[in-house]
Amino acid sequence: MSYLEVKQLNKSYGPTQIFQQIDFSAEEGEFVTLLGPSGCGKSTLLRCLAGLTSVDSGQILLQSKDIVPLSPQNRHIGMVFQSYALFPNMTVEKNVAFGLKMQKLPGHEVQQRVTEVLALVELTEFARRYPHQLSGGQCQRVALARSLVTRPRLLLLDEPLSALDARIRRHLRDQIRRIQKELKLTTLFVTHDQEEALTLSDRIVLMNRGKIVQNGDAESLYTQP
Ligand code: ADP
Ligand code: ADP
Repeated sequence: MSYLEVKQLNKSYGPTQIFQQIDFSAEEGEFVTLLGPSGCGKSTLLRCLAGLTSVDSGQILLQSKDIVPLSPQNRHIGMVFQSYALFPNMTVEKNVAFGLKMQKLPGHEVQQRVTEVLALVELTEFARRYPHQLSGGQCQRVALARSLVTRPRLLLLDEPLSALDARIRRHLRDQIRRIQKELKLTTLFVTHDQEEALTLSDRIVLMNRGKIVQNGDAESLYTQP
């Protein structure tokens, strides 16, 4: 049994089928990229895993337990979006601490976790700044910190680099990979960018028109029939 197993997952919006019979798995600590053209259903699939939208049928087994009936909070899954959606009137540290609001931790524990995670994303000296005082890359690192601070069982990244320019994109890509390895965090990364997929992933799941068309290591992406 793999750490994450997605089985026969189906989703439609009204009469429109968004994806069908989705099957894939991820091992603990694995970095899996979901690669496919824009509009093929990647974002919707991630939102279904996070519990932000419902599925029609199928199972999502995380550590052997079906999470489909669970609320987003009870899934313990972190998610980062393309648009970082930080609270503009909160400092970096308040934005990050907000991720913990639901967990009712004592104040000193919150402070300790925020400090740890800001160090991890290399933003310690920016703790007291506001989002408008940061670059795009820094904002996305705050968004990453906000999801990591809850210590999720699974991290979902929905095109987190797309809004950034090329140099910063490469830098943040390396940083995400370093953090993911350091935390041994099972990660599902969505992109339409082949180069990103090839350089980041342990495994690539290729999606097209709502279906998985290939699944293997980066090398096999071009060698399989
Ligand atoms: P991707 O992330 O691969 O670009 P999406 O999952 O965003 O793809 O979208 C897949 C398809 O689902 C698109 O055709 C999109 O228009 C449609 N879609 C996404 N969200 C909704 C929604 N809330 N209602 C209806 N259709 C939607
Ligand atoms: P990196 O991810 O490589 O740190 P950043 O996007 O964080 O790249 O930005 C690179 C540098 O440019 C940072 O040191 C940052 O302070 C500075 N910078 C870029 N844009 C802004 C901005 N709008 N306000 C303040 N500093 C900025």
